[in-house]
Amino acid sequence: MPFHAPSWAPELPFDPPDSIPICDFMLDEHYGRHPLGYSHNPFTCGLTGKTYTSLEVRERVDYLARGLAKELVFQPNQGTEWDKVIAVFSVNTLDTLPLAWATHRLGGIQTPVNAAYSAVELEHQLKNSGAKALFTCVPLLETAREAAKKSGIPDNRIYILEVPEELVGKSTPHGLKTVDDFIREGAKLDRLEKLNWAEGDGALRTAFLCYSSGTSGLPKGVMISHKNVIANTMQIAAFEKPYRDKIINDVRNQSDYTEVVLGLLPMSHIYSLVVICHASIFRGDGVIVLPKFNFTKTLQAIQDYKINSLFMVPPIIILMTKNKPMLEKYDLSSVWSLFTGAAPLGQETAQDIQKTFPSWKIRQGYGLTETCTVVCSSSPDDIWFGSCGSLLPSIECKIVTVEGVEITGYDQPGELLVKSPSVVLGYLNNDQANKETFQDGYMRTGDEAMIRKAPSGHEHVFITDRIKELIKVQGHQVAPAELEAHLLTHPAVNDCAVIQIPNEKTGEVPKAFVVKAPSVGIEENDRVLAREIQKHVEQHKARYKWISGGVEFIDEIPKSPSGKILRRLLRDKEKKKRKAG
Ligand code: AMP
Repeated sequence: MPFHAPSWAPELPFDPPDSIPICDFMLDEHYGRHPLGYSHNPFTCGLTGKTYTSLEVRERVDYLARGLAKELVFQPNQGTEWDKVIAVFSVNTLDTLPLAWATHRLGGIQTPVNAAYSAVELEHQLKNSGAKALFTCVPLLETAREAAKKSGIPDNRIYILEVPEELVGKSTPHGLKTVDDFIREGAKLDRLEKLNWAEGDGALRTAFLCYSSGTSGLPKGVMISHKNVIANTMQIAAFEKPYRDKIINDVRNQSDYTEVVLGLLPMSHIYSLVVICHASIFRGDGVIVLPKFNFTKTLQAIQDYKINSLFMVPPIIILMTKNKPMLEKYDLSSVWSLFTGAAPLGQETAQDIQKTFPSWKIRQGYGLTETCTVVCSSSPDDIWFGSCGSLLPSIECKIVTVEGVEITGYDQPGELLVKSPSVVLGYLNNDQANKETFQDGYMRTGDEAMIRKAPSGHEHVFITDRIKELIKVQGHQVAPAELEAHLLTHPAVNDCAVIQIPNEKTGEVPKAFVVKAPSVGIEENDRVLAREIQKHVEQHKARYKWISGGVEFIDEIPKSPSGKILRRLLRDKEKKKRKAG
């Protein structure tokens, strides 16, 4: 018997609609509790206070879609979504989501790119996704131009998302079209015809193409359908409803209650994209958008905008626990919820931050790009530190042994398999990975988990280990295979393996084991060579992928008879070394 959502969690109010694009679901008054017709402000800049009302967002999406349709010759009912892929390489902006919804209005796909990427990494995503146009921001323009040129995207298909002036500095005029230019032009153009989708189209058509390495190998395009996003948005809203109702009825006595939430995490990652930018907006909450992480500006924004819900990742919470005097300088009394995900939050850190803020609900969620985010989450009424809470409505999970035998009891770890309407369509052009990952309606997470009965009596999910080849640095994915392939291009590297080692600040960092090439002379200094190898990564890869865990030279990389790297042996060796001192 698979495990399910707890009995207190309400069912979804209706089946996730599968004949409409995400923009209709988000912008149409028919669906949300607070449809975007209310006069609240979905997106506000946390640095400048610039804001758009719901009605303005709707209008911007509409005009932007008209402008894009003309410029890119993307008509709603012509071609497939793969003819209309738009890449976004930017820090968080007020227009990032309106741009996605405008793209969806045309039946197209948004492929969000991590803003920390180097030109080479961006080039890979542009080529792999088949992007026809690229939106970026002025601080990233140089990198964007370099990658676009190599990907065959001409300069007149690069467009600009506006960011606060303080990020731009004294930049030279770029002469490129901006979102506001599109909107001005779009306002003068005719209305677009509606998408003529049949029932089921929303479940088959890709809306977002995010990148994840899954259980092994290189980063792959994850095809996330319109229905996937709508489903997880509804699952989160249903799961949270009892508590929201309680706040509305018992505490605030305010039927149009909405919240102010922190929009700091990168909108290119599924956590921010779905949990903050869809689920919160769907409920009528206002997102305070911060372009990128800055500790004091984040605290200032919480104080200035009286933010109620903080969405964070463990390294930011650790930073908070290490800088308590700084926290005291700001009035954070508006906060009631601190939600974390994307990587494990240690129990000690949770306890520590709870001591500082006794009234806060410190909650943890677990999810993946491949499940279009949240699988389970702690409810504000049922918090158990160390656990990732209970399954969301309409999610089933199984725990299986290495041999694939189902574990039906509590407290026994095995691989976590997930079935949910939010499980994605699959990886783009990768049959092998699809076969390995999506089996019998379940998605293999590559995470080790167990179900435990909480003191509340409800079933909770504990993530106990990671079986798959994935390193998580500040919540970002680092694929060992990607770094290994790159290291092998260095002339001194004959063979190599990359594993994660724990790091207090970032959660984990990559460490490389390297077998030197025969050409490396014995007189070569190991420390100098290790540094040179690290630099080889630093020149080509995003900062969070750097080999900060160091380079260790060994004689041979342990491998199975089929040639698979036995990472577990290296990880165990590393653990032993650490224990010894
Ligand atoms: P991503 O697709 O980047 O969201 O990465 C998904 C992976 O992040 C999962 O398969 C887990 O390995 C890890 N992860 C996400 N949330 C948690 C959590 N709360 N605790 C432990 N690991 C997590």
